[in-house]
Amino acid sequence: MQEKNTYEIKFSGIVQGVGFRPFVYNLARRLNLTGYVSNGLEGVRIVFAAQADLANRFFDELVQEAPKKAQISEKSIQQIDTQFFDKFEIRESETSGESKLILTPDYAICQDCIAELNDPANRRFGYPFITCTNCGPRYSIIQDLPYDRANTTMAGFEMCEECRKEYHNPTDRRFYSQTNSCQKCGIKITIYDIRQKVISNNQSEVINLIINALNNGSILAVKGIGGYLLICDATHQATVEELRTRKHRPNKPFAVMFSSIAEIAENVEFSEIEKVALESDIAPIVLLQQKTDSVVCQAVNPKLDKLGVMLPSSPLLWLICRGFGKPIVATSGNISGNPIIYENQKAIQDFSLIADLIVTNNRDIVIPQDDSVIQFTKKYKQKIIIRRSRGFALALPQSQKTESGSLALGASLKSTFALKTQNQLYVSQYLGDLESYETQQNFEKILDYYLSIFRCSESLKKIYVDAHQGYFSTELGVQLAEKLKLPIYKIQHHQAHFAAVLADNEVEIDGTLGIIWDGTGYGTDGNIWGGEFFYKQNQETKRIHFQYFDAILSDKMPKEPRISALSLAANIDGKEEILREKFSDNEWTLFQKILGKNSTQTSSMGRIFDAVASMLRLIDKQTYEGEAAVYLEQLAQKYFDKNHYHLKAQYPFKFIDNQIIIKETIQEIFREIKAVGNPQLIAAKFHITLISIIDEVAQSLQLSKLAFSGGAFQNALLVDLIIHFLQPKYELYFHKNLSPNDENIAYGQINC
Ligand SMILES: [Zn+2]
Ligand SMILES: [Zn+2]
Repeated sequence: MQEKNTYEIKFSGIVQGVGFRPFVYNLARRLNLTGYVSNGLEGVRIVFAAQADLANRFFDELVQEAPKKAQISEKSIQQIDTQFFDKFEIRESETSGESKLILTPDYAICQDCIAELNDPANRRFGYPFITCTNCGPRYSIIQDLPYDRANTTMAGFEMCEECRKEYHNPTDRRFYSQTNSCQKCGIKITIYDIRQKVISNNQSEVINLIINALNNGSILAVKGIGGYLLICDATHQATVEELRTRKHRPNKPFAVMFSSIAEIAENVEFSEIEKVALESDIAPIVLLQQKTDSVVCQAVNPKLDKLGVMLPSSPLLWLICRGFGKPIVATSGNISGNPIIYENQKAIQDFSLIADLIVTNNRDIVIPQDDSVIQFTKKYKQKIIIRRSRGFALALPQSQKTESGSLALGASLKSTFALKTQNQLYVSQYLGDLESYETQQNFEKILDYYLSIFRCSESLKKIYVDAHQGYFSTELGVQLAEKLKLPIYKIQHHQAHFAAVLADNEVEIDGTLGIIWDGTGYGTDGNIWGGEFFYKQNQETKRIHFQYFDAILSDKMPKEPRISALSLAANIDGKEEILREKFSDNEWTLFQKILGKNSTQTSSMGRIFDAVASMLRLIDKQTYEGEAAVYLEQLAQKYFDKNHYHLKAQYPFKFIDNQIIIKETIQEIFREIKAVGNPQLIAAKFHITLISIIDEVAQSLQLSKLAFSGGAFQNALLVDLIIHFLQPKYELYFHKNLSPNDENIAYGQINC
């Protein structure tokens, strides 16, 4: 008989809050092993006694049969000094050592919990905070590592006798479930009116009160997993219009929540891949084609064919959806421009002007998050992340050269930060546009939280910021660097985008053409870049760009597509016929004077899209960022829907001296509009022209790999056309784990 040795197994990655310890415990018991398993800052550690071959078998089975949600990034087994055990047990967590943990994201309610929630015989029937080891909040409630109840905002809820029994029963789904609770011992809801008066805290009636209020056309602020959501009846035009008025949000689409896939199927079209995404643990908002007979009213997504839909991510939202029986508008509960509200007292105060009722509960949220948003392109089903937030993994692939202790602070719009700890590269969730004071405060707060939870406030080595002086994130980085006496690196915005898409795909820069198109980024020559191509030649990064046009009237230009049209058409004869009507006499005279005398110029693709949308009379003043581009994409998509993807026609352009000149493109578009050409065809030809431009640049440089980053690639049609026309000739790289928009800047900076 073989001798028994003592072994130590270590796993790091996403291994806490996913049922890993119970899984280890049960397998060890099945194999008659003795020893223990515990959580620590490095992950999960197992010490046990066994004969050599059994130890290896145990290790292999642990790896192969690990819980579905676990993601093991590092694993090891080694023999250690002999210890003696009389049984196998789960031991208290260890809190020393450096953190190798990947924060576990929040998981949407699982099917088992939904079944129990719906079963009158179950003791958690109708309990709005039911969870198990497979579902429930994690990231949003963690105050410190390792992931144990005492380190979460569940700490204050003492388990009742029955919950405790489940928690200690190795055969129970809630064995070691840190969020375990029930009606008797768990979280309580309170409903307030707008005068901060308690309407009800009787748990048996709160859900009915919410549903009655929805039926009466009320707008409610309801605390979800990552923060408050504003909800109302999505089928009632007047109610949704009222929400728009109160939220000062005239057109930007709202997302809609449905209780089931069957209900979603009645309202939008989706394919298998989109269904899988909807039903995933993330429960994101997925943008889908709305059906003509959908019951969702027009005020939800004015002028748009696509609708953002999702399934309830929490049991409370599931109960509300199921009880109401109709689709519900569910949008981030914030005051315009500010971050999502997640604290009860603030909610009770701030929602008094927007909501009719405020539904709070007494489990605190530590880390606020918005709902995540994704879409798949229509033809090729390429996934595009629009907003990476609740439910997404926070650790991302990293290049070898990224030094630990690096911190990158991103851009300004759609802000995020990136932090390289000893072992992982984290990219924060979407943290909003850093233009409001509250968003800036929230950004700093989450940054402090990361530095403290990963124990790296002391070990920062360098800081990366955007080259734009005026950004809040740049200033914050400069201050931090001064305070901590650290070197600071200013990274050009589009270079950061390029580095981000390369790292996201783990592809090398050599032989790759970066096509980086977005709205705004500060260029090294002082101009506003945005229609850029980069490649490496003789150890140097080279740039090709769209020919500059005047950037006038600063912040007004990105908000008013008509100004982009005026600037881009500056040297084109006969533009008055189409553009004059968009301006008052005073404006026309003034803007003409400014043009040409202006010193700042731009190559922005965002502004080119704005200009063409305005010429086609789609929009002159935007009410939300990207509105013009969305309308232009939608118009072109209609053409391709009818005519498939056979279009060969395009507009002329020139590629001279590292510049793309589209004067003739714009001239032709004007000519066709005047000749009352088909607007759908014009929009389609404009898109095809962009594909030809990419093709021509890549061919002339003889580069075979194309990598795309920047907000322009949220345009699903553009991505489909790239795949359709360029896939046969090139290797294509789109973002995998991040959005193509400025959410990826921090990740790019840290990979520079
Ligand atoms: Zn569950
Ligand atoms: Zn209980």
